[in-house]
Amino acid sequence: VGRLHVLSDHASGDPGRVLDEVADALRGLLRDEGLSEDDLVAVGVGSAGLVDAASGVLRTSPNLPGWRDVPVRAELAARLRPPVRLINDAAAFLAAEWLAGAATGVDHALFVTLGTGVGGGLILDGRPYRGPTGLGGEIGHMSIDLDGPSCPCGNRGCLERFVARGAIERLAVELGLAAEGADNPKRVHERAEAGDPRARRLFAEVGRRLGAGLAGLANLLEPRLIVVGGGIAAANAFFLPAARAELEIRSMVARQYSLPIVPARFGPEAGIVGAALVAGRGDERFA
Ligand SMILES: [Zn+2]
Repeated sequence: VGRLHVLSDHASGDPGRVLDEVADALRGLLRDEGLSEDDLVAVGVGSAGLVDAASGVLRTSPNLPGWRDVPVRAELAARLRPPVRLINDAAAFLAAEWLAGAATGVDHALFVTLGTGVGGGLILDGRPYRGPTGLGGEIGHMSIDLDGPSCPCGNRGCLERFVARGAIERLAVELGLAAEGADNPKRVHERAEAGDPRARRLFAEVGRRLGAGLAGLANLLEPRLIVVGGGIAAANAFFLPAARAELEIRSMVARQYSLPIVPARFGPEAGIVGAALVAGRGDERFA
């Protein structure tokens, strides 16, 4: 990643105008690097939401409420010369970490992203796996509590409700951190770094919950490596030790051999790196 150009405050804007700005920003990046459009091999787009990778159409996206059935690939291809590829952001994260990141060369690996929600990805037998129609791999929506809080997915007690941003914010209220201004994961992380025992206890609890969820997956899939990314993974030093301990307690597979849980290599750029790699290599395994 040479340079990151951030466009903001356009989430609900007209798709055509936003894509105009994306194309302009890309040309600007090329100029800044002393390159021209002829040097561009491919353009990769990673987007949250329901993506039809085969047709390059973004069906719906939680972050772009006004966007429905937008032909992102065709629209960008009309603005830029090289081939354009559109994939889901979770697939882009998986691609970045598997092709060039923490799980490079690992044939059996599990990927989890912790942020507003919990995303997931699987590499099984050396290939990405998402089920016959791409609906699989939803690690965040396994129940870890039968009667737990309801989840927008229709289930109750999903892992997502226990380890994602909302769970951290609820724990921050319970522990009195929110009342002192540490009311989101970033601020709680800062407090943990400053040595606040409540913030450290909070992350240890999140790690314990995560480890419990991962134990079931480890028993089911026998991965050789688990990669944890997403915004909350910035605080991995405070929750991965508890996750590892819980995984070992609960998973017979993890007890058979050392099953490492490691932080992702790419931070917020994972989606960008993954989409670019997939587009540049013409790799058809990711959707
Ligand atoms: Zn759910």
